[in-house]
Amino acid sequence: MSQPRQADWLLVHEALQRILDAVQPLETEEVALTEALGRTLAEPVTSPIDQPPWDNSAMDGFAVRAADVRGATTAAPRALRVIESVAAGAFPTRTVGPGEAVRLMTGAPIPAGADGVIRIEHARVMAGVVEIFDDADAGRNVRRRGEDLVRGTEVLRAGVVLRAGEVGVLATVGRARVPVGRRPRVGLLSTGDELTEIGDTAAVLAGRRIVDSNSYGLAAAALALGAEPVRLGIARDDASSLEEHLVPALDLDALVTTAGASVGDHDLVKDVLERIGMRTAFWRVRIRPGSPFSFGWIARSGRPPLPVFGLPGNPVSALVTFEVLVKPALRKMLGRSKLHSRTIHVRVADRIKSPPGLMRFLRVTLEARGAEWLARLTGEQGSGILSSVARADALLVVPLEVETLEAGTTAMALPLAPQDDAQDTIGFHTG
Ligand code: AMP
Ligand code: MG
Repeated sequence: MSQPRQADWLLVHEALQRILDAVQPLETEEVALTEALGRTLAEPVTSPIDQPPWDNSAMDGFAVRAADVRGATTAAPRALRVIESVAAGAFPTRTVGPGEAVRLMTGAPIPAGADGVIRIEHARVMAGVVEIFDDADAGRNVRRRGEDLVRGTEVLRAGVVLRAGEVGVLATVGRARVPVGRRPRVGLLSTGDELTEIGDTAAVLAGRRIVDSNSYGLAAAALALGAEPVRLGIARDDASSLEEHLVPALDLDALVTTAGASVGDHDLVKDVLERIGMRTAFWRVRIRPGSPFSFGWIARSGRPPLPVFGLPGNPVSALVTFEVLVKPALRKMLGRSKLHSRTIHVRVADRIKSPPGLMRFLRVTLEARGAEWLARLTGEQGSGILSSVARADALLVVPLEVETLEAGTTAMALPLAPQDDAQDTIGFHTG
């Protein structure tokens, strides 16, 4: 590999900025709320209602006037006359006067006159009368009208991802249909004479070809983000095969090519793309793995330019550059308000040496250690070792200028989508 010292190689954040400047959010569409999970909300949502719509009981118990029960103890209980019983879904018809109580179920409206609900556990029920023997709930257990959502106020911002909580809020305010960003259709073109389709078992088992794994791995990464991958197949390392495979890409929202991006004799991808109209914005980024990364766009009449991401062929480089440099662009196209991959602080388990001049993204596992994450290298970090990505929980970031990360120091990491949303040990402690 050539030395990473070229003056025109962009820093990772410079490359990212140029990419983000060149892409725009796609148009929006409307989907049923039941289909909205993982989509990006395209417009802010304002509540047309107060939620809850009435002051209501947080407990099963008795609505009372606080003054009537203050000082109540087991030795000196207060007896109140029960004038009504109200279930959730019913409405009180009586006002609570001095010496009176209304039996309430959780969620039932608070009757006029009452200012709190005594939980059933603090009450002894007798015929027509209730004895309160604890005043801890005096003036309490009322959920106020509008304490969750206030009519006329914004309850969800544009650009958020719709998860279970957001979907619940949308249902609460009566949105059966939701405006979301259209999913970008991302073309994935693999290139290389050594590659074959996944079903070509004979050639693969005989050791004559390798499976085009990039288009599958990248399709999965795109899908996980909410984009729509379109596999464009495998182009041979010749100009006419490349041109042919690029035709359908011109109708998509983005194109990701892998391999053929270095300076080898058969690395034609950039040339062919430029011949069909791509303007190269930059080539080469100070990132490892993945430095032979390029970005450009192809102008189209009547629609936005097609952004073209030229990823290296090595499977690890392809996935890492997709994570670091392509995903933020896709988030912008989706209409997300937050574009950058999440980072966390981790403690480094191993001493790590790194050449200067490149920002490195190392595959690590994360172990919960009390309130910290311990990051441990998954093993060999070669850019062909795809199994190291499969084992990884995160990409550990080694900044450009750092040559050694000592064991025990803290560093930044980009968590990958979790393999499971659970962990082996309890991560919080009770008591
Ligand atoms: P290249 O960028 O063409 O020099 O490829 C770099 C390395 O990545 C080579 O070892 C290729 O065989 C490998 N490679 C390229 N494309 C793919 C792909 N789609 N799937 C798996 N490996 C690939
Ligand atoms: Mg190649």
